[in-house]
Amino acid sequence: MPVSTTKPNLIRTNSVARALAIIGDRWSLLILGGAFQGLRRFGDWRERIGIASNILTNRLDRLVKAGCLKKAKADDGRWHEYRLTQMGADLYATALMFWRFDRLWSDQANLQLAALSHVSCGDDIHPQLVCAHCRRPVRAHDVRYEDGPGAGFEKMPPPKLSRRSSVPSAPGEGRQTLFGESIDVLGDRWTQLVLASFFLGARRFDEILGHWKIATNILASRLRSAVQAGMLQRRLYQRGPDRYEYLLTPKGMDIYPIVLTLTRWGDRWLAGKAGPPLLLHHKSCGHRLEPIVVCDRCGNELEPNEVFIRAGG
Ligand SMILES: [Zn+2]
Ligand SMILES: [Zn+2]
Repeated sequence: MPVSTTKPNLIRTNSVARALAIIGDRWSLLILGGAFQGLRRFGDWRERIGIASNILTNRLDRLVKAGCLKKAKADDGRWHEYRLTQMGADLYATALMFWRFDRLWSDQANLQLAALSHVSCGDDIHPQLVCAHCRRPVRAHDVRYEDGPGAGFEKMPPPKLSRRSSVPSAPGEGRQTLFGESIDVLGDRWTQLVLASFFLGARRFDEILGHWKIATNILASRLRSAVQAGMLQRRLYQRGPDRYEYLLTPKGMDIYPIVLTLTRWGDRWLAGKAGPPLLLHHKSCGHRLEPIVVCDRCGNELEPNEVFIRAGG
């Protein structure tokens, strides 16, 4: 466990915090999900994910600036379209881990039926997060952390969105997207950060505050929504005054693959010359952990152009 020295107004460098400053927003995630399904044009996203034009313009712009999408002339030369860059395409593993989470925990009947097909394996495959070295599934308690070359302090990456986009689930045509109802909770940067701090050992209000320099009212509201969503449970640890700590439920534990793919993405694309802030080791095999998302049938790494969503219902 890394040393938890704190500095006023600075947080320890963290790849998840950097990643969520870019994509910790439900619309950005839904736009990326659409791009993985082949969407490229403004009008296609607007129809498919039910997003207002001004928000779509704003989010596309941000994703282009961040380097996840690039604007290009369409083949017919008349329209602009948005294509995934390599950096954007590398978020596919995260999108698949959202799909996995919804598949395991969603109540929505149509989502229960939505299945993934892998070109070489057929229908109903399941994406699995494994260690690239030993190919065994990775669980939170199997991972050891130590400071990496990029360990240090920095300002909390600025929140680039003015308000929480709390809109009910997008309609979607039979919801042909990798993002299901969990996006209503997890498509919020703060909720994800709060949950991610539990994998770094936090349990109590002040410990989470120490990780992210988050405003206390925001922290309180995100803890509440994570409890309501069944991802955290509250436990009394002191009486008079009563104080509570929080524990991840099995459902909360299950976001670990999302956190891990975001860590990998941040390490790869946002760590710069300094390198990763944290080094992860897979205890089961003793090697540096390189998490990859593979097909549970053939074991190959899953690529966007080889996976299709078979809509349910
Ligand atoms: Zn391993
Ligand atoms: Zn396969």
